[in-house]
Amino acid sequence: MDNNQFQYTDERFADLQMLRYQVTDFESLSLQQKKLLYYLSEAALSGRDILWDQNGRFNLRIRKTLEAVYCSYKGNRKLPEFQKFCVYLKRVWFSNGIHHHYGCNKIQPEFSEAFLREAIEQTDSKDLPLTDGQSKEDLCRLLFPVIFDPTVMPKRVNQADGEDLLLTSSCNYYAPGITQKEAEAFYNAQKEENDLHPIMYGMNSRLVKEHGELKEKVWKQDGLYGQAIEKIVYWLDKAATVAETPKQEQVLRKLIEFYQTGDLKTFDEYTILWLQEQEARIDFTNGFTESYGDPLGMKASWEGYANFKDLKATERTEKLSSNAQWFEDHSPVDARFKKTCCKGVSAKVITAAILGGDLYPSSAIGINLPNSNWVRAEYGSKSVTIGNLTDAYNKAAQGNGFREEFVENEETCQLLKRYEDTCDDLHTDLHECLGHGSGKLLPGVDPDALKAYGSTIEEARADLFGLYYLADEKLVELGLTPDLEAYKAQYYSYMMNGLLTQAVRIEPGKDIEEAHMRNRALIARWTFERAEQRQAAWMVRKNNKTYLHIQDYSVLRELFGTLLKEIQRIKSEGDFEAARKLVENYGIKLDPTLHEEILERYRKLDLAPYKGFINPRYEIITDKDGNWTDVKLHYDEAYDTQMLRYSKDYATLPYIND
Ligand code: ZN
Repeated sequence: MDNNQFQYTDERFADLQMLRYQVTDFESLSLQQKKLLYYLSEAALSGRDILWDQNGRFNLRIRKTLEAVYCSYKGNRKLPEFQKFCVYLKRVWFSNGIHHHYGCNKIQPEFSEAFLREAIEQTDSKDLPLTDGQSKEDLCRLLFPVIFDPTVMPKRVNQADGEDLLLTSSCNYYAPGITQKEAEAFYNAQKEENDLHPIMYGMNSRLVKEHGELKEKVWKQDGLYGQAIEKIVYWLDKAATVAETPKQEQVLRKLIEFYQTGDLKTFDEYTILWLQEQEARIDFTNGFTESYGDPLGMKASWEGYANFKDLKATERTEKLSSNAQWFEDHSPVDARFKKTCCKGVSAKVITAAILGGDLYPSSAIGINLPNSNWVRAEYGSKSVTIGNLTDAYNKAAQGNGFREEFVENEETCQLLKRYEDTCDDLHTDLHECLGHGSGKLLPGVDPDALKAYGSTIEEARADLFGLYYLADEKLVELGLTPDLEAYKAQYYSYMMNGLLTQAVRIEPGKDIEEAHMRNRALIARWTFERAEQRQAAWMVRKNNKTYLHIQDYSVLRELFGTLLKEIQRIKSEGDFEAARKLVENYGIKLDPTLHEEILERYRKLDLAPYKGFINPRYEIITDKDGNWTDVKLHYDEAYDTQMLRYSKDYATLPYIND
């Protein structure tokens, strides 16, 4: 497809905008590399049902029901009631379940129960997820409260301080009825004191209660989610046969072994091999990875993606990683919490070739793995910035009026226009390549000591590291920023986002829930409070609108340094109380009046606050004997077509998994 004709934006519904990303330079890869990406993309799509089930135990049945109605509805498809049903289904697809992908609240349908009941009545029974002897009426009785009643399973992940986080969260990592206390006691009993190499406890299992006793059901080939894992293993095995290097083959074989055994020690071995594999151009993530979906931060949601290195852009991040020790040595952090030897911080810019599981359709643009603290400390981490996704976001945002509405004046707009894209990429690089990889825990500190506040504190640490260094001469010296003005663009947009505009993602009256957003609010407000006292920043009111004014950027830099120092101390010492105070005081509550103003201004712009990506479609080209001659990517698939195809081709799990 011609570059100029590539359509970055696609359909829009509710608070969501679908985008497309271009797999730039795919054509220039060798046939073997293309095959490898094809197999890895199949592996990345085969785990889709796992995530759906992890997100809620009725999700697979609800998806099947909604899709059956969508495909066979005989009534007038133009009527508002059916249109509202379509929007709901698309939102459920987008969220991989019935709760908002970001806010975690249950999505309320805008059509009636009567409409859905009648539509189900007209649907062929064989297309519905009916279990033995179940009637359509039984199905409605089971699913309707889950879909319609706002008090049933209201929240996927509840983080509210003081509540039982498991009883009030409806994610499916713990069987219903298990309390937070019970689960914490179960895992605390497993942890060995002074274990320098602890496994990722509980990461790959569902906790259930049988005859009054807690027990893990492990996600592995002959365990829970076995049917999906078998498919994943099948494709990984194919991938291993076309691996680029012997080391990469070893990585794939080790991952297969982990999927077969579910042994978390094997997982650590796999992680280390994966970290050490640095030669191949193609790389991937496939497995139980991030724990944001578990209120206790232990159980990992399934995700998969495949990518290849963007050779040119990677020069940028290599400059950072080859200077990792310099950055560590010069940070404002207390010497006790610094790494004396910054190992293996590898960083690259990559091109995503497929997104799956928890990275689809809403994806991170920077990823730093692994999550095991001791593996990171001893072997480093792999950090990536996904260049083609960032590019798609930037292209889609051009000229949408956002900046003009929220930035204080024309002069600041010009500053952002000149530097923001460069600085934003660079901040992501600093966050991923250096921020997450910096610092260390004091000996004997439990990596989970900060509990529910852990993710927010960790993100804040990485963000602050980046913010602090953006203003450093070192970056100009390395040729990464053009001059000592550039960082101001990122400081302004970061503060504006944290203080004002990120609130567009929150419904009126609701709190900030998501870890990255909490972190941004925490940093921006803590800093602003102090900058204001020093007359370095303040809010201005013009035409009944609130704007941020920054008078002295150097004060902000100093404050970012101070907060970084404190956040690193909290992390290194496992100071739960201090983490709780910071997050609760600065990261969660919104000023209702200001929130309403921001929402109102945003509504007028008519933009979608959340974006997600439609994947390219892979096509294998063969000669007349069936040999592969090429792999082609197509960017023509509609979102609903893609979703229905995935539900058909990658339906790996039964409707009920427990
Ligand atoms: Zn991060």
